[in-house]
Amino acid sequence: MSEAASRKLPPLLGRLPGEWETTLAELGEPKYRARQAFRWIHQRGVFEPQSMSDLSLGLRERLTELGVKTPLEVLDVRRSPDGTRKLVLGLGGGGRIECVLIPMTPLAEDADAAAVVEDETEEPDTDAGATKVTLCISTQFGCAMGCKFCASGQAGLGRGLEAHEIVAQVLVSRTFLEPREELKNLVFMGMGEPLHHYDQTERALRLLMHPDGLNLSPRRITVSTVGLVPGIKRLGQDFQGKIGLAVSLHAPNDAIRSRIMPMNDRYPIAELLAALREYPLPRRRRLTIEYTLIDGVNDGPEHARELCKLLRPLPVKVNLIPMNPIQASPFRTPPEARVVEFQRILSDSGFSCFVRTRRGDAVDAACGQLAMAGDLIPLRRGGSGAA
Ligand code: SAH
Repeated sequence: MSEAASRKLPPLLGRLPGEWETTLAELGEPKYRARQAFRWIHQRGVFEPQSMSDLSLGLRERLTELGVKTPLEVLDVRRSPDGTRKLVLGLGGGGRIECVLIPMTPLAEDADAAAVVEDETEEPDTDAGATKVTLCISTQFGCAMGCKFCASGQAGLGRGLEAHEIVAQVLVSRTFLEPREELKNLVFMGMGEPLHHYDQTERALRLLMHPDGLNLSPRRITVSTVGLVPGIKRLGQDFQGKIGLAVSLHAPNDAIRSRIMPMNDRYPIAELLAALREYPLPRRRRLTIEYTLIDGVNDGPEHARELCKLLRPLPVKVNLIPMNPIQASPFRTPPEARVVEFQRILSDSGFSCFVRTRRGDAVDAACGQLAMAGDLIPLRRGGSGAA
């Protein structure tokens, strides 16, 4: 490839090993260096070329000039009593995103974000006694989808993240794991709509799954979408349905859905469900339907029954999320009795249905509360943690 063509490649941190080969060939370096450089970054989380000790001094200097450096600065870490940690990360060029580490206590495990990941039995635990942690990452600074009950949606879109910024969240968050914690599941459920800028999400997935990088299993990754039909189709095709898919449905009919989710006018429920039917799920796996319960809007027994009818033909499990309060929103959390009744109707109809607990609430890290970070408390850990 010519130098001009290679200039169209993403920043070094976002390049796949094949693309690294191109870059290094241009610098007169042998092919195997590509794998070395990729491993330093994506397996070991080292962003600083000077520390890449098996590369030649000359190459380290060239890479420093070309700009390998951390794209994220750890601005703050907030800990909730339940062990949840929210990381506030500064982006180059301004803007902040957040990602959340959620330890799975045995009780929370079913009902929480980890419930989107199945087939535990097929994979032996690497450390049986370790606490499994789910990491929730962001794909955009802000969000353009405009969901009426979501803080990120109300804030609007700042910008989409590039693949290397998405991957760096995982590499940085990993350094905040406690000694007996193991990063088990990755969910694209933070700020932003992952399928809105599909190309960067797709590249990030490839980087995260690469055997010379973090080597994450697609079964342990779930992408959550507001329901962008073309993106669902592409994700299904590009990864043969192996990436877990969660869909934010939140309503049993178009009238209610359009009221709380403007995107429903573009991709109404029938079209969305058709795309879900076509998603090439592997055998025994199910889609996750997310349903945020909003007081007096979508939380009645009649809505639950309508939802059962709608979802009957699909291999799904349902995660109910009692709405987390956000500022300046007319929408409220339903009384607990309504949540329980809603769940009962779905369960009695044969759906596996969990109520997602409000983990991380104390640090505004619960679903829909990832807005542009406001008041910050000082970092409790030494250094930036971003290496
Ligand atoms: N854009 C993606 C992923 C981000 S949001 C999506 O829409 O799926 C992750 C989940 O939290 C979504 O199901 C979203 O609808 C839900 N959510 C947003 N605001 C919420 C709130 N205030 N309370 C509870 N859940 C909320």
